[in-house]
Amino acid sequence: MSFETLGLSAELRRAVTEQGYTEPTPVQQQAIPAILEGADLMARAQTGTGKTAGFTLPLLQKLNSALKKSGPRRAVRALILTPTRELAAQVQESVLAYGKHLPLKSAVIFGGVKINPQIMKLRAGVDILVATPGRLLDHAGQKTVDLSKVEFLVLDEADRMLDMGFIHDIRKIMALLPKVRQNLLFSATFSSEIKKLAAGFLKNPKLIEIARHNTPSELVAQVVHPVDRERKRALLSWMIGSKNWKQVLVFTRTKHAANRLSKQLSQDGITAAAIHGNKTQSARTRALADFKRGAVRVLVATDIAARGLDIDQLPHVVNFELPNVPEDYVHRIGRTGRAGNEGEAVSLVCVDEHQHLKNIERLVKRDLPKIVISGYEVDPSIKAEIIPNGRNTVKKGTAPKRSNYRWGNEHSHSRPGGSSTRNSNRRSQYR
Ligand code: AMP
Repeated sequence: MSFETLGLSAELRRAVTEQGYTEPTPVQQQAIPAILEGADLMARAQTGTGKTAGFTLPLLQKLNSALKKSGPRRAVRALILTPTRELAAQVQESVLAYGKHLPLKSAVIFGGVKINPQIMKLRAGVDILVATPGRLLDHAGQKTVDLSKVEFLVLDEADRMLDMGFIHDIRKIMALLPKVRQNLLFSATFSSEIKKLAAGFLKNPKLIEIARHNTPSELVAQVVHPVDRERKRALLSWMIGSKNWKQVLVFTRTKHAANRLSKQLSQDGITAAAIHGNKTQSARTRALADFKRGAVRVLVATDIAARGLDIDQLPHVVNFELPNVPEDYVHRIGRTGRAGNEGEAVSLVCVDEHQHLKNIERLVKRDLPKIVISGYEVDPSIKAEIIPNGRNTVKKGTAPKRSNYRWGNEHSHSRPGGSSTRNSNRRSQYR
């Protein structure tokens, strides 16, 4: 199947060719014709499937043909909502790249940056607006954006928007839009909340489901290194140094941990930057750009900041801390092993996180191999501590339980420069 058979115009096909795409991805094959026909869409597709082009290309085509008919009238006709600033910026980049040969105008608005340049941009007139919900509502409140002419609404990464508590903002925004419009919802998961949201605004949607739910790519080699809480940082520095990793994306659960780790790695002589919601937009953009061009070796990120990041051919992902939500593990390791390249996902797991690990293994339906690194053996006398907001939380007033996940003395050891998986993924390690 080609982009031509999908019914895309010559200008769009040219832009796609310039991006180096030769054939449409599965989500594009299904979404593009459906959107061109005018259907509402409910699509389950994660970042990395080509979903952005899947909705951007047909939207550009529809907006442009209406422009041809009625002459240039500038009003926001397509609104794309995303959960994070990074994703908004990336979607806008796609809009610009694919719409390169069309006379359409677009803008991106998100919080954390000055509002005035955005106001100027909106005043000059845009056809396509990419926005995060909070800043869009600020503009709506100040009457610096007119949403009364919106014909297309896209909710990108809708599941993450709900996780981030944007449901009320989304409802407020929808109330500002014309009733008759085409609606497209993209989500990595179809939870009951997503289905409820979809039922409230999608009309007779076409259903698209891409990539089996919660199935990590076969190209990603996953391994767990059991290690004590306080020794994770030393182990990470050692791994990066001894294996000479050049580009590593490291995940922490909290912004505080991301900052602290990035500082400590820098002290160890490893260039690192942190990316999370408390950083200014320019600091986040700079960190990402430095990481992409290799000036920074380690990018330490929280789940929310990393959502939607598109970094080509990332060889290593490290879970410095396991996520509280097991599905986030799959999203995290999906940053590597993309586009047919092999990748490695390493998880440093301490005694506090045994329940998290079990939940992840249940979700991915397999035991992950455990390899103890020589010199970083686990001290079995260390007791588990409670992870804030984690699912290992115990009731107030009761002491944290000792973990029932045992890899005490029967684990395997790796020799310097090598490792062994002997005994590493045996069921016997579970109690
Ligand atoms: P997305 O899922 O939208 O975040 O896209 C993931 C990556 O796939 C981006 O780097 C796109 O540039 C790339 N991409 C999108 N469509 C295609 C295609 N048809 N062929 C090759 N790469 C693509």
